[in-house]
Amino acid sequence: MTTMTATRPRRGAHVADRPAAAGRRATAQRLAAVAVPVVVSAVRRVTPSVVRVTLAGEDLRRATALGADQYFRLLLPQPGQQRPRLPETEEWWPQIQAMPEDERPVVRNYTVRGLRPELGELDVDVVAHGDTGPASRWALRVVPGDEVGVILQDTCYAPPATTTHVLLVADATAVPAAAGILAGLPAEVTATVLVEVPSREDAPELPVRAGVDVRWRAAGDQGSLLADLQALPLPVEGLYAWVAGEASLATTVRRHLVRDRGADKDAVYFCGYWRDQAPVAG
Ligand SMILES: Cc1cc2nc3c(=O)[nH]c(=O)nc-3n(C[C@H](O)[C@H](O)[C@H](O)COP(=O)(O)OP(=O)(O)OC[C@H]3O[C@@H](n4cnc5c(N)ncnc54)[C@H](O)[C@@H]3O)c2cc1C
Repeated sequence: MTTMTATRPRRGAHVADRPAAAGRRATAQRLAAVAVPVVVSAVRRVTPSVVRVTLAGEDLRRATALGADQYFRLLLPQPGQQRPRLPETEEWWPQIQAMPEDERPVVRNYTVRGLRPELGELDVDVVAHGDTGPASRWALRVVPGDEVGVILQDTCYAPPATTTHVLLVADATAVPAAAGILAGLPAEVTATVLVEVPSREDAPELPVRAGVDVRWRAAGDQGSLLADLQALPLPVEGLYAWVAGEASLATTVRRHLVRDRGADKDAVYFCGYWRDQAPVAG
């Protein structure tokens, strides 16, 4: 069904040459790479396509908010279960595989949109793309009191210390991550942000300041995200690019940056957040 279930998100060049970043990573894994039970405490539609769900649980009080594009595994119950059966240790993937198929939790990757350890709360913005996948289906029906599981993970955004300009290219699924990255952008670093969302009304507020240029487009607008990018003047020196969204978008943008622009491939992070599966012909 999906390309991005319970595997680690596929990484592009992942530049982790800053000791501080490596240290944060180790801390996150020590504290929170186990499944914890959480209960839905609030549900709100933030744009026509995006449902914000707040998850609450005592274990989240021990979580560390890493900011940027920190992600987590969302564990959903199977039809007929009131709550997902959760794996018990950090070896969660083999444990899930060992469960009978009809008892295994459904696992999907999501970005930490907000994390408030002091309240034991985590927000996630889910793009509702219809009844075609279990997570989207869940988001369309979720109500306070529903029970799911969370495995907190790492960040992937890791610009080298020499970065002076950040390029973010994202679709709707990567907007929460782009928002987290922008919120932590150092004052001396400038940024260009290209985002494609399903409709104009799906463009949420982003933490924008002087030196940050955000350009939205809606699916169906004339041209394409790639064409917009190709027309953009961008520095190559000091550039760090972070590209996430539909898999072919991520690889195409990365190819353009490395092949056509001469960007250092180690300074281009890209990740297919989901894969558009064309209907099978015949
Ligand atoms: C690190 C990481 C962070 C992510 N963060 C977020 C996030 O914060 N918010 C978010 O909404 N998504 C996020 N995603 C993407 C999300 O994991 C996928 O969209 C996932 O496939 C949704 O699961 P599903 O059960 O709804 O659909 P699946 O069962 O995976 O897929 C069913 C069908 O739906 C299609 N599909 C899947 N996603 C979409 C989509 N977004 N739009 C249209 N069609 C789709 C597939 O092509 C497939 O045909 C993230 C992914 C990664 C790797």
